[in-house]
Amino acid sequence: MCLASQIHLKKYDVATASVISTQPTPDEALKRLVDGNEAFVADEPLPSDLSRERRLTLAEGQQPFATLVGCSDSRVGPEQLFGVGLGELFIVQAAGNNVDTAGMGSIEYSVAVLKVPLIVVLGHDKCGAVAAAADVVTKDTRFPGSIARMIEPIVPAAQRSVDEDKLVDTAVEKNVRRMVERLQKFSELMLIEPQGRGELKVVGAVYELATGRVRWL
Ligand SMILES: [Zn+2]
Repeated sequence: MCLASQIHLKKYDVATASVISTQPTPDEALKRLVDGNEAFVADEPLPSDLSRERRLTLAEGQQPFATLVGCSDSRVGPEQLFGVGLGELFIVQAAGNNVDTAGMGSIEYSVAVLKVPLIVVLGHDKCGAVAAAADVVTKDTRFPGSIARMIEPIVPAAQRSVDEDKLVDTAVEKNVRRMVERLQKFSELMLIEPQGRGELKVVGAVYELATGRVRWL
């Protein structure tokens, strides 16, 4: 089903008060991710449903239980590190877990239309985009093309971490916290209101490449 028809369908459903949510609560959704990551860390990843039956079911519509805002880094595969399968995570990815207009629209769609109960902003240690932002601050490094504009939103987190021993790791965490705060307090009403009603939670986390562990903030 295309995006436009889903939005249309939801409008119709709301008008007829016939929406029956089968989504978990925010805390239940978070527990699934916590449990999935613990299994991944223990080298016993949860089996994810990649069957033909699952594909056929999903072809009729999606109902992901969480929206993941993460980095493009190839070492941070959200579905793998949380042990989830097809149709379970709605993923917005860009280097440095940046969210541009398209990314924000994607997040809003996941909440307003798909009724996702949980948004996770996931940074990771040794993030190249954050390291680049740190270089801008400490060495006045210039980057070519759109890379410079991509890094710009991360620069404030790097600036506020410049006196720390572990500049990049500190900036990674601050960058996640800034995005969480933006989604919690400075976003559209379609994100603010469900949080006020307890139907949506926004949490931050940092993934550790070597251990596989997701550290929840
Ligand atoms: Zn990264």
